[in-house]
Amino acid sequence: MSRPTLRFAPSPNGRLHLGHAFSALTNARIADDLGGRLLLRIEDIDLGRTRPEFVQGTFDDLAWLGLRFDGPVRRQSEHFSAYARACDALAARKLLYPCFCSRGRIAAAVAERAAVARDPDGAPLYPGTCRALSCNEVQARIEAGEPHTWRLDGAAALAAVTAPLVIRRFAPDGAEKTVPADPTRWGDAVIARRDVPTSYHLAVVWDDAEQGISHVVRGQDLEAATDLHVLLQHLLGLPSPAYHHHGLIRDETGDKLAKSKGSESLADLRASGVDPDAVRAMLGLA
Ligand code: GLU
Repeated sequence: MSRPTLRFAPSPNGRLHLGHAFSALTNARIADDLGGRLLLRIEDIDLGRTRPEFVQGTFDDLAWLGLRFDGPVRRQSEHFSAYARACDALAARKLLYPCFCSRGRIAAAVAERAAVARDPDGAPLYPGTCRALSCNEVQARIEAGEPHTWRLDGAAALAAVTAPLVIRRFAPDGAEKTVPADPTRWGDAVIARRDVPTSYHLAVVWDDAEQGISHVVRGQDLEAATDLHVLLQHLLGLPSPAYHHHGLIRDETGDKLAKSKGSESLADLRASGVDPDAVRAMLGLA
């Protein structure tokens, strides 16, 4: 059997905070316990928010915490052509369709409905406006340069599934159990964004397979995404890792930490004289 392989996969659109430290250290601990390897992946598909100083800051913060990673660092922005090929393969099987709707247009379309069904992130489920556009219209709009995303046709995707869709969950002590996956909660999810030929969901499943990840350890905020990830793995013929979703570090108001909310960064803590052992202690990982 090959060696267990884990990854820590931050998005460099800000400096790391305690939530990232908890996730990275938990990955390292589980990798150690399983006698496995820990890889680092920089999830920089959001070209508008990624900044070189955040990438360097990520490396500095992880080194400061005392974390060492195996193998080369993978950067998603260097693999757009692979994601585009995966997208093309799904589109060729009619599992994706181009969608020209803006967020505002979707909000307006669902506002007319009595009850709005939402995905696990709280966004309204896509009402299907572009699902049945004629080939001529699609071609004309693409040729006219109209921006579009590519969405999974959820019903077509489920019809293409040939085995029960399941999530393999594992506990930090290694015990595994299998639970059914329900990708319908995401409706027709965006698989490729307007600006790049992927979304988080496609890039993450592609890279987990490419890097030979056997165990995914990440926060509970990504637990629901796993239902969609196992569907994409099935459709693309990729192996499905085992998943562990750890609890989140929250601020004093009970909210999860976020760069966008100005949560204190590891760099701030370090500048104020906190050392890595104190960070571990704060996180209950001493
Ligand atoms: N890049 C994601 C984040 O920073 C994590 C992705 C994952 O672990 O699947 O939230």
